Amino acid sequence: KKYVYYFGDGKAEGKGNMKELLGGKGAGLAEMTNLKVSVPPGFTISTEACVEYYKRGKAYPPGMMDEALHALKKIERSMKAGFGDPDNPLLVSVRSGARASMPGMMDTVLNVGLTTKTVHGLAIKTKNERFAQDSYRRFISMFGSIVMGINREHFEDILKHKKRDLGVTQDTHLDAKALKELVVSFKELVKEETKRDFPDDPLEQLRMAINAVFSSWYGARAVTYRRLYNIPETWGTAVNVVAMVFGNMGETSGTGVAFTRDPATGQRQFFGECLTNAQGEDVVAGIRTPLPVNQLEKFMPQAYKDLETTYKRLERHYRDMLDLEFTIQEGKLYMLQTRVGKRTGVAAVRIAVDMVKEGLITKKEALQRIGPDQLAQYLYPIFDAKEESQCTPLGKGLPAGPGAAAGKVALTADRAVEMKAAGNRVVLVRQETSPDDIHGMNAALGFLTARGGMTSHAAVVARQMGKVCVAGCEAIEVVDSQTVRIGSQIFREGDYLSVNGSTGNVYGGDIPVVESEVIQVLQGKMEAAASEKYQLFESVLKWADGVRKLKVRANADVPDQARIARSFGAEGIGLCRTEHMFFAEDRIQIMQKMILARKREEREMYLEQLLPLQKQDFIGLYREMKGFPVTIRLLDPPLHEFLPKREDLMVEIAQLELTSGSPTVLEEKKRLLARVEELHEFNPMLGLRGCRLGITMPEITKMQARAIIEAACELAKEGTKIVPEIMIPLVGMVSEMKAQKDLVREVATETMKRYGVKLSYLVGTMIELPRAAVTADRIAEEAEFFSFGTNDLTQTTFGFSRDDAAKFIDFYKTANILDSDPFAVLDREGVGSLMRTAITGGRKTRPTIKLGICGEHGGDPSSVEFCHLLGLDYVSCSPYRVGIARLAAAQAAL
Ligand code: ADP
Ligand code: MG
Ligand code: MG
Repeated sequence: KKYVYYFGDGKAEGKGNMKELLGGKGAGLAEMTNLKVSVPPGFTISTEACVEYYKRGKAYPPGMMDEALHALKKIERSMKAGFGDPDNPLLVSVRSGARASMPGMMDTVLNVGLTTKTVHGLAIKTKNERFAQDSYRRFISMFGSIVMGINREHFEDILKHKKRDLGVTQDTHLDAKALKELVVSFKELVKEETKRDFPDDPLEQLRMAINAVFSSWYGARAVTYRRLYNIPETWGTAVNVVAMVFGNMGETSGTGVAFTRDPATGQRQFFGECLTNAQGEDVVAGIRTPLPVNQLEKFMPQAYKDLETTYKRLERHYRDMLDLEFTIQEGKLYMLQTRVGKRTGVAAVRIAVDMVKEGLITKKEALQRIGPDQLAQYLYPIFDAKEESQCTPLGKGLPAGPGAAAGKVALTADRAVEMKAAGNRVVLVRQETSPDDIHGMNAALGFLTARGGMTSHAAVVARQMGKVCVAGCEAIEVVDSQTVRIGSQIFREGDYLSVNGSTGNVYGGDIPVVESEVIQVLQGKMEAAASEKYQLFESVLKWADGVRKLKVRANADVPDQARIARSFGAEGIGLCRTEHMFFAEDRIQIMQKMILARKREEREMYLEQLLPLQKQDFIGLYREMKGFPVTIRLLDPPLHEFLPKREDLMVEIAQLELTSGSPTVLEEKKRLLARVEELHEFNPMLGLRGCRLGITMPEITKMQARAIIEAACELAKEGTKIVPEIMIPLVGMVSEMKAQKDLVREVATETMKRYGVKLSYLVGTMIELPRAAVTADRIAEEAEFFSFGTNDLTQTTFGFSRDDAAKFIDFYKTANILDSDPFAVLDREGVGSLMRTAITGGRKTRPTIKLGICGEHGGDPSSVEFCHLLGLDYVSCSPYRVGIARLAAAQAAL
């Protein structure tokens, strides 16, 4: 079996499409080599080797090391230098590279092959003693920390002391002698910490470094990252061994990272950062504040020209925005990495739309490149412009993750998690972030860092998570673990802070956040023509509409929501929850009286009062939906939800008694309490609710049916045709369905006669109980449509209480018992299987039965995909998710 793939001198054994085997980095290096882009020679040890290594209890698979040594010979020939050759040493970097890029998660060791002997050779060969010693001290600290496990800060401390002793501020100001002394101190540190000498044999170094890369696959940071992004443990990482080129050989050398387009905005302009006379991760680590990449033109004009030609070629070849890493050694450019660049949602949309215009990709490809959640970033809030203009920024950093966040300051990741759990909005403030902070970054709305550039850890993670980020804000000074100074102001944990990730401005206080441009346009507060963002958003959705099969409706209860839903392109209402209409001030009173009533006649009297209000609700909804279908669900929740809480009533009664308040009020409260106690249920979710209400109190169903049909009749007279879909909730038996349908029919016929109008309307049900799914063929004898109520269906299938399950679902996820929260992502295996049964049953009885979903899942991309696969007619989701569902439906159809 082949474990090692060589690349060099314009020819590679691997290819760009071999990511699974070579990892992203290895595949990119191979592809660039084949494209004749300038890449130092090297080889990739495959991910299979890593998997084998673990299978064998951390032993190399047979033949792997021989292959590696053979490839090393080829590098030596290509570089005309020898690994370990004291006169003419070859150095290599040992780099990890998994299939999916895991930024900062896996560790890279540079300058492998430096020993007491070769460091002299390097100095003589390059006629640069300082450079050789600089490389050596970097190597010892990197190798010492990454491979040998010594805390990196120990090395940093020694370096800091050295600089202080010599009175210099920059690493570059240390001369050869100082660096040589550092090497000695570093080696002493290694000896002290590990009780062994720093390895002085190049091959031993190489072996140890390869092992370290393999081991980092199971490092704590990598494990967390994999869990967060659902990357399977079984993939393993590849190892890339690459001939070193040196960016630290003086002012005509340098290193940098760049994006072929702006990763924050998507603007078509080369974008990046670089450092002259620097090596490796100096740029990413934020040790010195980097220069914009175009500054290279001044220092190294030829190399910059080459870089421009190269990035354009690579972008055309990959047909996507790329993230590049490069090093310039004495004016000559070398590419060290290429991959498809991470970008904000805002940038993803712009780049996709631009690339279609440029003829680089098709509309379908464009649709596939935009994550539904990235599109959602167009809906992110921004600061209220007026409020923001009245605040003076305390500092300004790099606008690394767009959007606006205001919240309480947390100074450590752990505290951010705790504060979020306590219900706070949190802004995480750090000197700089590292992969150890991931959990805190996940909890925070935004991050603010004192150091680091647009490609720093904080910035990369923010763009990926869609969080707000301001990086490298120099006005920040971390005073101690509880205090930070920003400009002139001191902040302690819990103080309010506002960060604008689109401009980089940082403010004290809690600036109100307002809706995004797209939302403002949709609400008519801004002209469509004035908003470029709105236009981008719209073009993507228009393309999506061209390919999707699923219709998208919205869950909306009131005209305002219906209007938003329509503006997002909803093609009807999939769920109107009528109970929400009864909570308004003027209605809850009547509703409570209705519930308190003990006799049918009394109930009917109050329902009579509710009827005109309810009718107006429906007229409002119908008007907004302009002929699109409207599904109205009859009253569903247990009645106690409309009554005051038992405890509150008891307190009120006690107070009235104490203060000898009005006896009639007291009397009323006592009656209320008695009824509340009567209605108490041990498990209300499985109690008197859904169609059980309408069956035991038919007058409720009658009133609602009348309101629905009367409203439609009145609109019909105005000339608007409405097809109401009346939905009976929580049906488990066909007999329930029949009982309610007969009632509705009776009222409808009578009403239409009264109005002299002939309407078509449908009576159907939600499928939200396992029994309903299993007997769907029977239920379809009566029901004219099904709408999957996957919230309840998930609850009843799992036997998980929707309101209590959060407590253990997280635990289940960490313990690998559940992959995801079934209330967020539809459980295809269990709930999905019931849905399939229901669809088959329903279609058997009624081949053209209309099928939809109205649970929360209707707006979740993976669930939308599943609904497409099931062949549903539509999904219905919250108004704000409609755009996202349209895109997800298109992606499912591609
Ligand atoms: P990461 O996956 O964290 O980006 P890399 O393997 O890309 O890690 O290494 C980080 C940086 O180290 C690179 O961007 C580059 O600057 C430097 N580097 C890696 N290999 C070499 C090499 N052979 N010569 C010079 N610099 C290198
Ligand atoms: Mg890299
Ligand atoms: Mg329900």
